Amino acid sequence: MSARILVVDDLEANRRLLEAKLTADYYEVLMAQRGEEAVQLAKRERPDLILLDVMMPGGIDGYEACRRLKAMPETRHIPVVILTTLDDRDNKVRGLQAGAEEFLTKPIDDVQLMARVKSLLSLKIVTDELRLREANGRRLGVIEELRHDPLEQLRLSAGNVLLVDDNATQIRAMQAALGIEHRVSLLGEEAHAGPPDLVVVSVAAKSFDGFRVIARMRSGEPTRHLPILAIVDCDDRKRAVRALELGAHDIITRPIDEDEIIARARTLMRRKRYMDALRSRLDQSLELAITDQLTNLYNRRFMNAQLGPLLQRAQCGGDQVSIMVIDIDHFKQCNDTYGHDAGDAVLREFAVRLATNTRPSDFACRMGGEEFVVIMPRTAGDIACLAAERLRRHICSSPFSVPGLPMPLDITVSIGVSCAERGDDTPDTLIKRADEALYEAKRAGRNRVIGRTGAQAA
Ligand code: GH3
Ligand code: MG
Ligand code: MG
Repeated sequence: MSARILVVDDLEANRRLLEAKLTADYYEVLMAQRGEEAVQLAKRERPDLILLDVMMPGGIDGYEACRRLKAMPETRHIPVVILTTLDDRDNKVRGLQAGAEEFLTKPIDDVQLMARVKSLLSLKIVTDELRLREANGRRLGVIEELRHDPLEQLRLSAGNVLLVDDNATQIRAMQAALGIEHRVSLLGEEAHAGPPDLVVVSVAAKSFDGFRVIARMRSGEPTRHLPILAIVDCDDRKRAVRALELGAHDIITRPIDEDEIIARARTLMRRKRYMDALRSRLDQSLELAITDQLTNLYNRRFMNAQLGPLLQRAQCGGDQVSIMVIDIDHFKQCNDTYGHDAGDAVLREFAVRLATNTRPSDFACRMGGEEFVVIMPRTAGDIACLAAERLRRHICSSPFSVPGLPMPLDITVSIGVSCAERGDDTPDTLIKRADEALYEAKRAGRNRVIGRTGAQAA
């Protein structure tokens, strides 16, 4: 995995050392020696990861640089690893509180460095993918411009933490520390707390295999996106690396420091909520991309996307496909007499009747204006004409009540039907034939169905 990493350290020797380690693993390295410079460079170059020294004499220190990076929309999604000196607990916690994802102690252990870099970069790939799809959605106009960055709205609220551990003393300590902000439960007793937002798994446990728990969580569909914090023994480097390789997002060493676990839980949960928010906005945007806003029927984009493959299947000896094109009669008059809002109400009521009078396998779409198309897969022309006739009768048999109007309105529709069997029909020719049939229905006096199906189509 190639990625660009920004190394920030005031000492040339430290920068060179990290550069050598990272380039040996084929990462591209950018370097800065001061906090301000790092913030500017990150804003301009958008690296994938930032390794940030805390102690930088002159100018802002690493914590302040981290706070500034996490405050800017352009850089706040870039993971930051704080570099501290050995055994400097306060610095670690301050770093996490400044919003850093991770910290490493100097002298930097190669294995730890690479495992953490890889784990943070793989998380960033997911985030970037979601951010890109969202940006595309916004560009296409199918997703609303954000008024606030989703991270902004994710001020931490209580979450559910699930503990998977067998050490009673350790469990009590974690319950006390995490219980200040979150609802904490033990595996097997979690039913009342709802689905977890974070899982803490001990890979130092004696009575179960913590690695197996992590592997299972990372491969199961409902738990795949859950952040996992693994507990390891203080100098158990091998297990720490293994846990990260298996998909744990973060590591905490025993004995567990209260402030550290609180800060780590906060960071992991914030990241999860950010991803959840992006994902749900994407689901929404996909829905929006194929839905007509006024009527909630499918839109023209969706219709085109469906029709092509259905026709191809019909031509390869598959089932026939029929469509009807429906146009409301004298709709302009309705608008002119009762106003545009009344017109909209008629369109909405028509859409409800259309949707409730087509089969579940049919696709009811709004082409635009007062024109609609129903795609009927696996339907021969004569059956399609019967369905169209049934719909026409249903529309004219009971008048439309429109909010604000004293009297309900009589509405009628004209419908053209066409059917594709084998041959060289394209979505355009199929729609054109139905349109011609519709035009004929209009000329013949409206409120009727005309079919161009089967042999007549040739
Ligand atoms: P015909 O029977 O020949 O179909 O006549 P018509 O009046 O229905 O057809 P025409 O194409 O002349 O007019 C369609 C009207 O539909 C004109 C337009 O203002 C109106 N219209 C199109 N989209 C909307 C909409 O979203 N809301 C409302 N209220 N009116 C719309
Ligand atoms: Mg019309
Ligand atoms: Mg029209």
